[in-house]
Amino acid sequence: MSNSQEERSEPFRIAIIGGGIGGLFCALSIHHHHHHSTMPGQDGDDVNGNGHSKSKRTIQIDVYEQAPQYREIGAGVGIGINAARLLHRLGLGPGLVQIAGQRQGTWFAFRRHEDSAEIVSVPDAEAEPGDVRQSPCARSDLLELFLAAIRERGAAALHTEKACAGVSVLNADGDGDERGGGGRVHLQFRDGTTATADLVAGCDGVHSVVRDQFVTGANNKSVESGMIAYRGIVPTAALAPGWPFAHWSNIWVGKHRHFLSYPITGNAQLNIVAFVTKRLGGGRLIGDREDEANKYKNIRESWSSLCDRDEVVADFAGFDEPVQRIIGLMDERPGRWRINDHEPLARWHFAGGRVVLVGDAAHAMLPHMGAGAGQSVEDGWILGRALSEHLGGSSNEKFQSLESTMQFYQDLRLPRAQKVQAASRVSGNLYELQTEEMSRLSYEDSLPVLAESLRERMKFVWSEDIDDSYSRMRDEEAVR
Ligand SMILES: Cc1cc2nc3c(=O)[nH]c(=O)nc-3n(C[C@H](O)[C@H](O)[C@H](O)COP(=O)(O)OP(=O)(O)OC[C@H]3O[C@@H](n4cnc5c(N)ncnc54)[C@H](O)[C@@H]3O)c2cc1C
Repeated sequence: MSNSQEERSEPFRIAIIGGGIGGLFCALSIHHHHHHSTMPGQDGDDVNGNGHSKSKRTIQIDVYEQAPQYREIGAGVGIGINAARLLHRLGLGPGLVQIAGQRQGTWFAFRRHEDSAEIVSVPDAEAEPGDVRQSPCARSDLLELFLAAIRERGAAALHTEKACAGVSVLNADGDGDERGGGGRVHLQFRDGTTATADLVAGCDGVHSVVRDQFVTGANNKSVESGMIAYRGIVPTAALAPGWPFAHWSNIWVGKHRHFLSYPITGNAQLNIVAFVTKRLGGGRLIGDREDEANKYKNIRESWSSLCDRDEVVADFAGFDEPVQRIIGLMDERPGRWRINDHEPLARWHFAGGRVVLVGDAAHAMLPHMGAGAGQSVEDGWILGRALSEHLGGSSNEKFQSLESTMQFYQDLRLPRAQKVQAASRVSGNLYELQTEEMSRLSYEDSLPVLAESLRERMKFVWSEDIDDSYSRMRDEEAVR
């Protein structure tokens, strides 16, 4: 058998490192596009009755998760309409509708901290046909939805307690060759075991081991925002009597702090994230208090670290009664962590396209646009679609090699994700009234600036249909 015949008869093996929201969606998308898509430009397609392409090389997807089980901590996550659209296209729409909260037409009402008077109300993106709408949900529910679909569809083999320690790229002879791309990728796990793959997708989050191996020095930099977040979930039933607003999506704005809530789990629960800036840019302390400095130094970036509720009480003293009621219902040990992001990366694929970054590993962003998970969903969708064109033998030169396919993925996704990444930093400073312009203004004078900047701010995230962008870029003539 010739080399290429041998290659085609073996499955193309995809290793996904990290089974969070980004990794699991990526697995589902690759499986979905490989088995169900017939796209214009895929001349190699020979579609039989059930939509499978006869000529496509088969695939095998393995997800390697470091934790002992697939589990998300019980906080909420906003799935914007841009990402909700993709979940529906993947057949997850009914499940998503079931677990999501309903924003009732309001993304967030921004309110004065001391009396809840409305500063500005930012409308939700309009619902689309087929129940496609903004879908805030519990992270654990979303992960369960993805896991159930993977199992039901047989989309991927799910491994646990497989912490990736490193990857090396082998050339066709099996020798280590980081520059090449001819051969397979060799994975080493912390438990001493190994595996090989034709493509490795690093979905291992903000502290990505995969990224750290290929992006080094000044190009690989985590950035402290100076902000911490307290997190909790409270039952809406306990708040409902006397709740003064028509919906559950509110942000109370103070100087250097904001308190945010939105509904999840079909509005049975309220997700709480309360942000406080402890250091401004350049490391300057708010109020220059030594005890604040020490406190901040000791706070971990870990998403599972906890604190005493008294800290939330102290940081949000003076906020209006609805906030105090919510705090009173939070766990006595709420979550608390530092909020960091990452400097934008110049490249997302390496080793001849055999290693690629997805989700927070590629573009960890601050949570202030509620868009990080949505961007990882867009990554997974596009990666799956592009890979299916490559493996399906598309005649389009953009998918001729694995490297050109990963370059296409990067060309489409990197600019948009980095725009959201940059906008998220600005949003955080807007909500805390500490942009450069606002730092010269009083609380009172900052509010009209905030209102004006928020009106159209989310539009570019929600309105882009990434499938349309994909088709446009695929069909563009190559610039010679
Ligand atoms: C406070 C806060 C609030 C947020 N709110 C929102 C929001 O409202 N809306 C939104 O869209 N986004 C939000 N985000 C961001 C969002 O949660 C992430 O962008 C999203 O979950 C995508 O992450 P990911 O799957 O790429 O990485 P992660 O969710 O970090 O998952 C990475 C996975 O990889 C595993 N892993 C790590 N290292 C290894 C290894 N070496 N080997 C194997 N497995 C490994 C981890 O255990 C984990 O399961 C928020 C983030 C924070 C911090």
